[in-house]
Amino acid sequence: MREIIDSLFSSSPHHELYLGVIEAAQGVVREFSGDAWKRKMLGDQALYDDVVRAVRGAGLMGLGVDEKYGGMGGGLLGQVLVTDILAQHGLASLATIVTGFSREPLLNHGTDAQIENYAVPSISGEKSFCILATEPDAGSNTFNISTRAVQQGDRWILNGQKAYISQADAADYGFLIARTDLEAKGALSVFVLDMKSPGIEMQQMNINIHGGERQYLVFFDNVELPADALVGEEGMGGKYMFAGLNAERLMVSALAVGTADLALRETVAYVNERKLFGDRPTGSYQAVQHPLAQYKADTEAARLLMYFGTRLYDDGKDAGLYANMAKLQSSTAAANMCDAAIQSHGGGGMDEDTGMLSLWRSARALRIAPLNNEMILNYIAQHGIGLPRSY
Ligand SMILES: Cc1cc2nc3c(=O)[nH]c(=O)nc-3n(C[C@H](O)[C@H](O)[C@H](O)COP(=O)(O)OP(=O)(O)OC[C@H]3O[C@@H](n4cnc5c(N)ncnc54)[C@H](O)[C@@H]3O)c2cc1C
Repeated sequence: MREIIDSLFSSSPHHELYLGVIEAAQGVVREFSGDAWKRKMLGDQALYDDVVRAVRGAGLMGLGVDEKYGGMGGGLLGQVLVTDILAQHGLASLATIVTGFSREPLLNHGTDAQIENYAVPSISGEKSFCILATEPDAGSNTFNISTRAVQQGDRWILNGQKAYISQADAADYGFLIARTDLEAKGALSVFVLDMKSPGIEMQQMNINIHGGERQYLVFFDNVELPADALVGEEGMGGKYMFAGLNAERLMVSALAVGTADLALRETVAYVNERKLFGDRPTGSYQAVQHPLAQYKADTEAARLLMYFGTRLYDDGKDAGLYANMAKLQSSTAAANMCDAAIQSHGGGGMDEDTGMLSLWRSARALRIAPLNNEMILNYIAQHGIGLPRSY
């Protein structure tokens, strides 16, 4: 990591901060050595909570929040760096990642009061966020959502339903996209929502990717939102949300490349030991080496796209193309790497105790979420190579 920061970010005013961030993230890693990551991934909730507490305790949730609000500054890069390092050790968690990217549009478009009330308490970890975008009927077509917020006096009344919401049970606040103009198809607005508001009900979905993390259906029945729940201008939600999604894609890329590294490290250790036909380990066979070497190259290429995209984002430039390409390449490389890791472990790859299946589940989900790779390719075709919109 030091190499990337020293070569790509040596002229950044935050260079020293990033070196400190590497130290702090490695400090968290040292607290949870051995096979702690496997226990965390396989559902040890106390351990999951301890890891999240350690990340918050190291002050890392202050990254990306301006110093004037008590944060550490450093833009998105600090958060991407932390996620990459923690994922390399199986210690990244949606609890911190989702809070990091969900508060981005609030930090960019919220009023000082909204930032103080909602985003600042997330620096210490006192409060956390989830993001509520997907709906059962709209799926990838967010512009087709039907959850609606109708203004009544000084309140908004929210009705509708969201699906697949990670951390909905644990989060204090939700960053929510809803339709405010019932006539205009594109007119979406974003709100910050108190997840404990009366009228919100949840049902856990039957998804088990990572033990400590759960996805929920969330139902809104006449939920009252105060006037100040609206973030930015009414009707601009689509624009805010989509700009924020670049941060989401870059953070998710960090989770993917870190996961690929971990699967590779564990596999190399295993195939260097496993001897079946004489004295040579299975790792000496080209059929075992080549997929691992290929996906290592793919992972590092994805990592460079990710750090470059993050730099564009932090410089206030259009990071859309690089964020999308990083998400495509990183999730593909990670899913391939974890599949090769399972194959290299033989039957052990199917044994939950080796941790390979849980790494594969995490990596495989990233080809679908937060946006499926087909939609990512649609974006690249349209915005990267100038082809007509295909859907
Ligand atoms: C583990 C997990 C966590 C998640 N967490 C959250 C969360 O916290 N908050 C949230 O809002 N959502 C979350 N999601 C939802 C996620 O963002 C959606 O699953 C994703 O956007 C796809 O929507 P869908 O599942 O309805 O699939 P659909 O939209 O029904 O698409 C199904 C498939 O059809 C294909 N497809 C669809 N449209 C096109 C097209 N135009 N061109 C080509 N192919 C296409 C793709 O292969 C796609 O995978 C999560 C999902 C998972 C699995």
